[in-house]
Amino acid sequence: MKKRHILEFSEKIAAPLSVIASPQRIAILLSIGRGEACVCHLEAALGWRQAYISQHLMALRKADILQDRREGRYVYYRLKNASLLDLITASASQSGLSAVAVSVLINTQVYPSCECPHCAPAVTPLDGLRVKTTS
Ligand SMILES: [Zn+2]
Repeated sequence: MKKRHILEFSEKIAAPLSVIASPQRIAILLSIGRGEACVCHLEAALGWRQAYISQHLMALRKADILQDRREGRYVYYRLKNASLLDLITASASQSGLSAVAVSVLINTQVYPSCECPHCAPAVTPLDGLRVKTTS
C-alpha cells in the first residue's frame, strides 16, 4: 500500500517538473521571477518571437505553473508558486552555477526596448500631469 502511495505521489510530483524541464521554459520562469511579466517584456529579455514565447506561456499556464491577469492592453504572467525558483536555483547549483549568479537573472532587469510598465513606468496616465524632463 505504501509503495503504491509513493508511486502515485511521484507521478504527481514529476508532472510539473517535466513541464518546466526545458532551457526555454526555465529562462521564461527566471525572466518572470518573483514578480510578473508581460509577453513584450519576455521578448525584450529573451530575444525570441512573441508567438514562440506565447506557446511556452500557454503550456506553463495549462500546467498551472503560471497564472495570468489582464490590465489594459497587457497580460501579465506570474508564477503561481514562486518557490519553484528555489528549485531552479537548486538545479543550477547542481550544475555548478552559483546561487548568486542565478539570482541576478531573476527578473530584476529593465529593457529600454520594452514598453511595459515595469520597464517604462513613466508611461502612465499620470504622466500627463508631470513636467517632462529631457534626458
Ligand atoms: Zn518590460
